[in-house]
Amino acid sequence: MTDSLKKTASMLMALFLSIGVGFGRQERMADNPVTLLRVGQDQKKALKINEAIYQAIGFGNTFMVTTSEGNVIIDTSMPFNAARHRQLLQAENSGPIKYIILTHSHGDHVGGISTWKQAGTQIIAQKQHVDFQNYQARLAGFYARRNAAQFSLPVPEPRGWAGNYGARIEPAILFDDKYEFELGGVKFEIFHTPGETPDHLTVWLPKYRAAFVGDNFYTSFPNIYTLRGTPPRWALDYVSSLNKVLSLKPEIVLPSHGMPIQGGAEVTRQLTRYRDAIQYVHDETVKGMNAGKDVFALMREIKLPRELEVGESYGKLSWSIRGIYEGYVGWFDLDPASMYETPASASYPEIVKLAGGVEPIREARVGAA
Ligand SMILES: [Zn+2]
Repeated sequence: MTDSLKKTASMLMALFLSIGVGFGRQERMADNPVTLLRVGQDQKKALKINEAIYQAIGFGNTFMVTTSEGNVIIDTSMPFNAARHRQLLQAENSGPIKYIILTHSHGDHVGGISTWKQAGTQIIAQKQHVDFQNYQARLAGFYARRNAAQFSLPVPEPRGWAGNYGARIEPAILFDDKYEFELGGVKFEIFHTPGETPDHLTVWLPKYRAAFVGDNFYTSFPNIYTLRGTPPRWALDYVSSLNKVLSLKPEIVLPSHGMPIQGGAEVTRQLTRYRDAIQYVHDETVKGMNAGKDVFALMREIKLPRELEVGESYGKLSWSIRGIYEGYVGWFDLDPASMYETPASASYPEIVKLAGGVEPIREARVGAA
């Protein structure tokens, strides 16, 4: 998230605070991006998940795990949520913040780091955090405009280029596949679980059988492609990462958007269905590609079977199908027109001319109306 976006988002938040919004347990993710940004603004008290885990609600959530030797923060939300989240969570326990764990590098998870960081706080991320932060900084101007469009924010001023490696890297602990530590008798196991991003991780607390799964699960089909723009989010990565979480047999799953899933049977039911929905869409797309179908046919034809319908309030199936297709093979669509630097729109005046000018087209439009 860029500075200008932070500023405009903060301004909008001031407005949202006066409106307020509810977010009940097990509700689907909001399908209006502006409503999504408002989530949690009316929260008066942190959610107590169990004797040690607390949740502040927002886009995204911030979690606090308390121990006798200090506390651990999992995700820090966006800058405009961070102070509110800190107030809610520290009202429950004001112990020192020993660790901040970032489930991944998106702005709604890392945006509040400076609000939470204390002298001696150690920040943990998966090692691909560095590449991903640099990639986001490299394209900050592009994403400022796309984020503004996605979340109905004012169009930002054009901005310069920070260079290829211009990101500020906060975590001092960067791990490859697995990292673990113990604090106050609580063991924290952290696994690399790519999906939403390549640096995505899952935090597992065996003592509480709790898995913090970041954005690899939410109550909608995942955004395997987002219109904001994204490098491929590999469907098979989601599948193997969800399998990893399922293999832990959690009793509680805490996603960074939405509410926790409680109870081993319910966790298994929801995560299995989610995994199977992603696997189904991936496999049908790949089968179609091998059968010679074009991307638009697959976007139209592939539908989730009834038992795998997980909703499309945030991630859209057809865009995800195109994301999978083009993630594998890139942009060329066998249309010779796509091979040239001239956009299709350049041919519009000629098409109008061939149709006999503006008047017949206007008449046809009036006739069709
Ligand atoms: Zn997120």
